[in-house]
Amino acid sequence: MTADDATTTDNSVTLGTLMTEAVAALRDAGIENARMDARILLSDAAGVDGSRIAAWPEDTVTMDKAKTFRSMVARRLKHEPVSRILGQRDFWRHSFRLSPETLDPRPDSETIVELALDWLEDANAPTVLDFGTGTGCLLLSIIGDLQKASGLGIDISEGAVTCARENANRLGLADQVEFRVSDWDSAITDAERKAGFDLIVSNPPYITQADMEKLSPEVRQYDPRLALTDEGDGLGAYRILSQVAFSLVKPAGFVIFEIGQGQEKDVSRLLVEAGFVGIEYREDLGGIVRCVAAKKTRCSVGRCVI
Ligand code: GLN
Repeated sequence: MTADDATTTDNSVTLGTLMTEAVAALRDAGIENARMDARILLSDAAGVDGSRIAAWPEDTVTMDKAKTFRSMVARRLKHEPVSRILGQRDFWRHSFRLSPETLDPRPDSETIVELALDWLEDANAPTVLDFGTGTGCLLLSIIGDLQKASGLGIDISEGAVTCARENANRLGLADQVEFRVSDWDSAITDAERKAGFDLIVSNPPYITQADMEKLSPEVRQYDPRLALTDEGDGLGAYRILSQVAFSLVKPAGFVIFEIGQGQEKDVSRLLVEAGFVGIEYREDLGGIVRCVAAKKTRCSVGRCVI
């Protein structure tokens, strides 16, 4: 078959035909990056390399694979993100499974991993605690890049904890991490409190209730609401977290919280009120302050802004 007769037969259809049909439908529905999304989905459904789709549009796939692809496109037309349709998302150096109970990891959150690794690179067997672990992307990315590190991931959602455990198993990190269902620190043991943690991270729900309406359908309809908003002013989680983290971090330890755009002053204030010092900000690739870090006692790491 050649590019000129790129048509559907009874048993097969060309990559080019499938692409044309999907791109037109996605564009009509106002989906940005229609071509890229269609190529990623077709690559997965047909089991072919993305580059092959553009280079060899006359190649055919079976009707079964075409059906799989068309049902993926139908989901995308309802604004389901590509990562949710594929069931996984690349983050840092790994690929993470998603579940309906987990947030879809964002590239911006890699800022937290970067800062954690900068500060922990020389630490001896550091312990890391992650509140609201979701897929486990923050904890597993940090632990996976450090020698002899271990971690505890907490989430109030049982589905998220199941997903995080699966990710730990797939990445070969299950021996170094534990995941627990817990409302904030209620499932932290006395022994763990006594020992403390070297680093506490969290990417808590920080979107205000008012801003929820402004989110794209991809986020509003598909990320769990519990992971996005505190149903208030967006600072509710930090009010609890800053107090809880201060009581759980080791004297020489530190915390890193992801924040929403413009929340750095409010979150810094809450951290200082809880007793933290040495506040530091780090920007994401878009130049937005994406996380606030703080230490329990003034120490050598980092550069302090307060
Ligand atoms: N820690 C997870 C992430 O960064 C989940 C965060 C959340 O659910 N708010 O993706």
